[in-house]
Amino acid sequence: MAFWDEQIETLPREELATLQLKRLKNVIARARNSIFYRNRLADIDESQFTKPEDVVQLPFTTKHDLRLNYDFGLLTVPQEEIVRMHSSSGTTGKATVIFHTRRDIANWANLVARCIVMAGAEKRDVFQNIISYGMFTGGLGLHYGAESVGMLVIPSGVGNTKRQIQLMKDFKTTVFHATPSYILYVSEVMEEEGDDPREFDLRIGFVGAEPHSEQTRQKIEDIYDISAFNSYGMSELNGPGVAFECEEKSGMHFWEDQYLLEVVNPHTGEALGPGEEGELVVTTLCREAMPIIRYRTGDLASIVDDGEPCACGRAHVRISRIKGRTDDMLIVRGVNLYPSQIEDVLMSFPEVATNYQLYLERKGTLDELTVKVELYPKMFTGDLRMLRKLENDILKAIQDEIMVRPRVEFHEPGSLPRTEGKAVRVVDLRKEN
Ligand code: AMP
Ligand code: ZN
Repeated sequence: MAFWDEQIETLPREELATLQLKRLKNVIARARNSIFYRNRLADIDESQFTKPEDVVQLPFTTKHDLRLNYDFGLLTVPQEEIVRMHSSSGTTGKATVIFHTRRDIANWANLVARCIVMAGAEKRDVFQNIISYGMFTGGLGLHYGAESVGMLVIPSGVGNTKRQIQLMKDFKTTVFHATPSYILYVSEVMEEEGDDPREFDLRIGFVGAEPHSEQTRQKIEDIYDISAFNSYGMSELNGPGVAFECEEKSGMHFWEDQYLLEVVNPHTGEALGPGEEGELVVTTLCREAMPIIRYRTGDLASIVDDGEPCACGRAHVRISRIKGRTDDMLIVRGVNLYPSQIEDVLMSFPEVATNYQLYLERKGTLDELTVKVELYPKMFTGDLRMLRKLENDILKAIQDEIMVRPRVEFHEPGSLPRTEGKAVRVVDLRKEN
């Protein structure tokens, strides 16, 4: 089993805690160089901190704070020290910008390299980075990590699907990075073109940037005959390289030497223990240009609590799949639900293809949920009885999961809208009434 930085990846937990405490104190002191944190941290005396958990004495930082302090309010260095800026893809609301020093960029590349090596990829691999470049962090983030490892990087970006496929063939791509929704679309185009996705040289896929279920991962693995790894990050915390799966695939290792993790009740802000699902709150421990303290990520997950350290030997905690964002939650007929719950159900049906969308409408006073799903072409044989049975089975399975009875609509493959970036899974027409 390979490591990028074995010493830090396997650091015993006590030593990890000592390192975190030291870095936490440093980052607080550094943050005070910014206009925003100078006021925010005025009453804090970090010299009294004795353990990383003392972080709870600090106030939270929210996306709203970042927006209010747009553009340089959180900057701790003179502007001439910044070498790059990135921004969030604005999944919800206005984008936020993040700045990096030269050392921040090097540090980030190093973290991504850890993830790449942890997943079993190597210098000899040919890496196609099928994700948006530019302000979005997924492109350049993986790009520099892969170059650090020494892979041949094909910065193909998203779109122009036939060219992507041609590049894979011509240069014998062995590893890709993509959103799950786009890479599934690529496989459909391959099939249309008469190519078998399993026949390519691909062996590993990094999939992330959007929520997806275990079943979706398995679909990607089966379709391409590869091993797929979940990759988590966000621009506020650099981008990819925050948490990533190892070959055990029992959660994503969260790099605790760089990021201090808490899980809190999203409503009360109270600390939650391992195994309890809540909002991830993260403090950057090493970032120079723009440290962020106790950032409310909005992402819902839990710390894996299986009582065992990971068999791969890494000491850093593992987090579950991201269930969604606190602001993804839908309230349908008074019931709270997340799109990912419906995806879990849909993807467990082998007849269901890879694209789906949820439509919400209000009929009178009642919410109506329509689940539109693409089926594989082989399902459209004219056997209506079979389709009706499938519709009923899916409907019942969703109802059992979310306690709301949806309508289920079948569509041909390729007929529901697609995006090249993050998939748009929910169309909520209720707000327009
Ligand atoms: P951005 O800053 O635009 O890259 O968006 C970051 C957000 O994308 C995160 O806060 C998550 O909500 C989502 N995200 C990123 N990676 C994953 C992943 N592996 N699984 C689920 N959601 C993810
Ligand atoms: Zn592991």
